[in-house]
Amino acid sequence: MARYTDAVCRLCRRENMKLYLKGDRCLSDKCAINRRNYVPGQHGQRRTKLSEYGLQLREKQKVKRTYGVLESQFRRYFARASRSKEVTGSELLILLERRLDNVLYVMGFADSRAQARQLVRHGHFRVNGRKTNIPSFLVKQGDIVEPREKSRELDVLRSGMQRHDQRQIPEWVHVDVENMRGVVQALPKRDDITLSFQEQLIVELYSK
Ligand code: SF4
Repeated sequence: MARYTDAVCRLCRRENMKLYLKGDRCLSDKCAINRRNYVPGQHGQRRTKLSEYGLQLREKQKVKRTYGVLESQFRRYFARASRSKEVTGSELLILLERRLDNVLYVMGFADSRAQARQLVRHGHFRVNGRKTNIPSFLVKQGDIVEPREKSRELDVLRSGMQRHDQRQIPEWVHVDVENMRGVVQALPKRDDITLSFQEQLIVELYSK
């Protein structure tokens, strides 16, 4: 399966904003956005005015990179969102937010979406009692997410739960820290997504 393997901080620098791709490092002084807040590459420090297309493209890249989704899969999410009766841009973000790897991240089981994705791929989690190793699995209201018995001792999960009270957990999920169990209380709404995305620009880009 294709995936991005280059330095991830370059992605934030390219988008000129923190995308929170590296867990704790993103909150520290070592964050590349704090230290070198300009576009990577030879001409990165030049000032350039983006065209309308450029603005739309950058917004799409921001969202894709935040959720760790590649182009073809992102287009499939867009197609599904545009078929729904809801507002296409909001529905697109909600679909991405419902991905199992994102859900584990917002529940605090992992420091980053990339780490959550790896935990899912390695088969450490169950959804409603069934082993699920597909990071793009879309959760539904009422789903119960928990590590498998033999995975509960993993350092990454234990430390995630220990630091649970330092995380801001959105209201649409509930986490029982003692039993290492998360419940999807409701489907996320657009307002639950706190990163600043202008999804309308993505809709404009794909509607050309
Ligand atoms: Fe982005 Fe995190 Fe790297 Fe900062 S540390 S540039 S937020 S991935």
